[in-house]
Amino acid sequence: MKNNKECPKCNSNEILKIPGTSGNIITTGSTFYSAVRVTRYICCDCGYSEEWVVKVIYIKREH
Ligand SMILES: [Zn+2]
Repeated sequence: MKNNKECPKCNSNEILKIPGTSGNIITTGSTFYSAVRVTRYICCDCGYSEEWVVKVIYIKREH
Protein backbone atom coordinates (compact mmCIF):
# COMPACT_ATOMS: atom_id res chain seq x y z
CA MET A 1 0.00 0.00 0.00
CA LYS A 2 2.90 2.32 0.80
CA ASN A 3 4.80 1.52 -2.38
CA ASN A 4 2.25 0.50 -4.99
CA LYS A 5 -0.52 2.96 -3.93
CA GLU A 6 -3.06 0.15 -4.18
CA CYS A 7 -5.36 -1.18 -1.47
CA PRO A 8 -4.48 -4.81 -0.60
CA LYS A 9 -8.10 -5.48 0.38
CA CYS A 10 -10.14 -4.12 -2.54
CA ASN A 11 -7.42 -3.18 -5.09
CA SER A 12 -8.61 0.41 -5.20
CA ASN A 13 -6.19 3.13 -6.28
CA GLU A 14 -7.92 5.78 -4.18
CA ILE A 15 -5.30 5.92 -1.44
CA LEU A 16 -5.19 8.88 0.92
CA LYS A 17 -1.82 9.67 2.48
CA ILE A 18 -1.84 11.50 5.83
CA PRO A 19 1.62 12.72 6.88
CA GLY A 20 2.72 12.41 10.48
CA THR A 21 2.10 15.34 12.80
CA SER A 22 3.26 16.23 16.28
CA GLY A 23 0.09 14.58 17.56
CA ASN A 24 1.48 11.22 16.48
CA ILE A 25 4.63 11.50 18.57
CA ILE A 26 5.01 8.58 20.93
CA THR A 27 7.41 8.83 23.85
CA THR A 28 8.77 5.75 25.58
CA GLY A 29 11.59 4.79 27.89
CA SER A 30 13.18 6.38 30.95
CA THR A 31 16.79 6.99 29.93
CA PHE A 32 16.03 7.82 26.32
CA TYR A 33 13.09 9.46 24.67
CA SER A 34 12.10 7.99 21.36
CA ALA A 35 9.91 10.07 19.13
CA VAL A 36 8.12 8.19 16.40
CA ARG A 37 6.54 9.91 13.43
CA VAL A 38 3.80 7.92 11.72
CA THR A 39 2.41 8.31 8.21
CA ARG A 40 -1.06 6.85 7.67
CA TYR A 41 -2.46 5.48 4.41
CA ILE A 42 -6.23 5.15 4.09
CA CYS A 43 -8.26 3.51 1.32
CA CYS A 44 -11.07 5.84 0.28
CA ASP A 45 -13.21 2.95 -0.98
CA CYS A 46 -13.23 0.39 1.85
CA GLY A 47 -11.64 2.36 4.70
CA TYR A 48 -8.68 0.06 5.17
CA SER A 49 -5.72 1.88 6.76
CA GLU A 50 -2.03 1.27 7.30
CA GLU A 51 0.43 3.10 9.51
CA TRP A 52 4.12 3.40 8.74
CA VAL A 53 6.81 4.74 11.02
CA VAL A 54 8.81 7.18 8.90
CA LYS A 55 11.26 8.52 11.43
CA VAL A 56 12.57 7.46 14.83
CA ILE A 57 14.43 10.05 16.86
CA TYR A 58 16.37 9.20 20.00
CA ILE A 59 16.95 12.06 22.43
CA LYS A 60 19.17 11.56 25.47
CA ARG A 61 17.64 12.93 28.63
CA GLU A 62 19.70 15.63 30.32
CA HIS A 63 20.25 15.31 34.08
ZN1 LIG B 1 -9.74 -0.68 -0.09
